[in-house]
Order: sequence, then C-alpha cells, then structure tokens
Amino acid sequence: MKKTNVKRTIQYNSKIQLLTQLFNKRKTELLAGYQGYHELKGFVDECEHWGIMDRGQEKALDEWIDFLNRWPFTGGTSKSALTPYQRNKAMGKQQFICTMCGRPADEVHHIISRSKGGLNTSDNLTVLCRECHEKIHKK
Ligand SMILES: [Zn+2]
Ligand SMILES: [Zn+2]
Repeated sequence: MKKTNVKRTIQYNSKIQLLTQLFNKRKTELLAGYQGYHELKGFVDECEHWGIMDRGQEKALDEWIDFLNRWPFTGGTSKSALTPYQRNKAMGKQQFICTMCGRPADEVHHIISRSKGGLNTSDNLTVLCRECHEKIHKK
C-alpha cells in the first residue's frame, strides 16, 4: 500500500470515529424526531464495517458529520430536521443567498413550520442567513 493511501485511511478512520460518536450521543433524540434515522443508521453501520470505499461515501460522510453537528437545528423543533440532500438542494436553488437580505445564507427555514404541518419539500423551504433566521423566529 502506498504511503498516501495509509494517510487517507487514517484520516477516514478518525472521521468515522467522529461520526459514530456524534451519532451515539444523539441516538435517542434522532430516533424520536428525525425521519431519516434509518438512512443515517445504515450509513454509520456501513462505515464501521467497510470503511470508506469511494469519493461519494467520503462526501456523504462529511455531510452527515455536518448534519449531526447542526442537530437539532436552531430555530426549529427536532422534527424540522432535513437530510443533507434536502438541505443542499434548497441551498443550491437559492444560490446560497439569504432570501431576505441578500447576504450569504447558511440556514434553511420552513415557510410553514413542521409543527403546523409544513413538509421538507422544496416549495416549503427557503434559505436565510443566521441573523434573518433569528429575526423570523422571534416574531
Ligand atoms: Zn439575511
Ligand atoms: Zn426557521
């Protein structure tokens, strides 16, 4: 095995460890309030057994870590959690620009909140910067 591959494997292993830690810490809440729980659990199991096999999995690993670090999302109930795919899709659609003030956006907001029956569909999602998102939820 080449040196670079060893290096990459070590890098992956520490990321997988981080993912597992984050997942285990939030397991109960995720199971109760996150509809993508089984998708995530499957991915964690796969990583633990087989490691990272390709670029696609590497990307998914980063996305899930990001997702777990954000869980539960600010300004929403745990039920409003999106999968990394839904989140990226909403962000991409608005070109990562806050729909209220035009600055770079970093959060996704449900137009009709999940508590009022709003869904994680793209027509119910908008992207906001942190400041505008806080303002909207304080109203
Ligand atoms: Zn804004
Ligand atoms: Zn919101």
